[in-house]
Amino acid sequence: MDIDEIAAYCKRRGLVYPTSEIYGNYSGFYDYGPVGVEVYNNIKQLWWKTFVQSREDVVGIDGSIITHPKVWVASGHVESFHDPLTECRNCKLKWRADHVVEDSLHKPTDGLTKEQLSELIIKNKIKCPKCKGDLGEVKNFNQMFITNVGPMEGETAFLRPETAQSIFADYKSVMDSTRLKPPFGIAQIGKSFRNEISPRNFLFRLREFEQAEIEYFVKSNEKNKCVYFEDFKNLKVNVLSEEKQKQKVNDSEEMTVNMCLKRKVFNTEWHAYWTAIFYKWYLNIGINPKNLRIRQHVSEELSHYSAGTVDIEYNYPMGWKELQGIADRTTYDLKQHQEHSKQNLEYFDEETKKKELLYVAAEPSVGMDRLFLTLIFDCLVQEKERMVLKINPKLAAYKCAIFPLVNKEGLDTKARELFKALSKDFTCFYDDSGSIGRRYRRQDEIGTPYCITIDFDTIKDDTVTIRDRDSMKQDRVKISNLKNTIMNKLT
Ligand code: ATP
Repeated sequence: MDIDEIAAYCKRRGLVYPTSEIYGNYSGFYDYGPVGVEVYNNIKQLWWKTFVQSREDVVGIDGSIITHPKVWVASGHVESFHDPLTECRNCKLKWRADHVVEDSLHKPTDGLTKEQLSELIIKNKIKCPKCKGDLGEVKNFNQMFITNVGPMEGETAFLRPETAQSIFADYKSVMDSTRLKPPFGIAQIGKSFRNEISPRNFLFRLREFEQAEIEYFVKSNEKNKCVYFEDFKNLKVNVLSEEKQKQKVNDSEEMTVNMCLKRKVFNTEWHAYWTAIFYKWYLNIGINPKNLRIRQHVSEELSHYSAGTVDIEYNYPMGWKELQGIADRTTYDLKQHQEHSKQNLEYFDEETKKKELLYVAAEPSVGMDRLFLTLIFDCLVQEKERMVLKINPKLAAYKCAIFPLVNKEGLDTKARELFKALSKDFTCFYDDSGSIGRRYRRQDEIGTPYCITIDFDTIKDDTVTIRDRDSMKQDRVKISNLKNTIMNKLT
């Protein structure tokens, strides 16, 4: 299915709508509908449970969207958070220059400067994708949204373009209020805003989106002392190394995490570990391994703060693209904030009595909306007679749907009782309209793993049928065993 078909499906089935659509299209902003919000919250909760609550070495925060503006000067975003922009001389539409070049030449443009992009546009006679007019010189466009704070003019602030900086700006408060010792991580899920020049591909590139990020701090001399490395070193992953990209080879190879580290795809053991654990998590939540790969950034495309970055990429209908980045951010951010805030951000080691700025060995960062989209791509299947969202039951909007066969002779009363009882433990959907076959199809389309039908036998023997979404098999189960049956299936 292509991206437009996915967007149409999401709208039809109440997963995602274009925002405030009654007023027309507002590019780059979307709303989650009744089904989508449940799936979306499940993804966020599972992420938080896995990477924060189930770990002794990671704590969470929830920072404000607007921070002191100096945060963005210190981080380098005011100076260099740019995208390359080109304007059509004829229709005046503005385009992201690297995307226009990429679409026209069918090759990656990562790391090219605005001068190089301008040159490619001229040399290859690349025209405006809309009206075929001439494209102008490539300029830098800062992606941060600006706002005014308070009644005074000139009190300019920014909507944060990444959640990471809230973590660095709160680092001292977190350290002062906890007893964290390295290695440790600080995590956050929250909104970010980027004034993307041309948002496109539905939820893939938004102007308002949510990120889930961890900053993982280690002592500088312990970057290669990852206590969990053993558990992941033999994991096989698909990798596209910098070396292969420079040889213009675009096929990934299967390698163990350890081999990748030896070949310097990862910077350190910690960098390798955090990439591997997320890669494995994506497989665990059901993403098809064929659609996942790890791509090492080539040196020219590294961000100003990074000593090495890999992306976990997904094979979208529009090609392999970043799902998540895992950067080695060094001591760059703490150093910058220490300098600009004039606060000491060094860690004091009680044992050695030495002070040092801790090193961010890994920053795993994923867009939650992009992950949501990825899961829909990966799980939505058009079968001969039905469309079915084969999403991991843990992430499904509703765990079960409850259907009275007919709305009379006590079946509806019984079904409502059951809805009330099961809703205490699971998200349930009640549906009493249309044929049972049609009700099954509606639930298949939104990924409900179990449908429960109350029929005339239920009144006689207190049993119901439970139908499995994927196999479409139906079993008869005692109502008293229903909760355990569903619980077992879900785990
Ligand atoms: P891209 O190359 O796709 O623009 P990026 O390298 O700028 O992404 P990062 O700054 O590394 O992205 O952000 C971390 C993650 O946040 C990305 O991997 C992606 O999942 C998500 N993300 C970034 N920009 C957007 C956006 N405009 N819309 C939705 N998600 C985004």
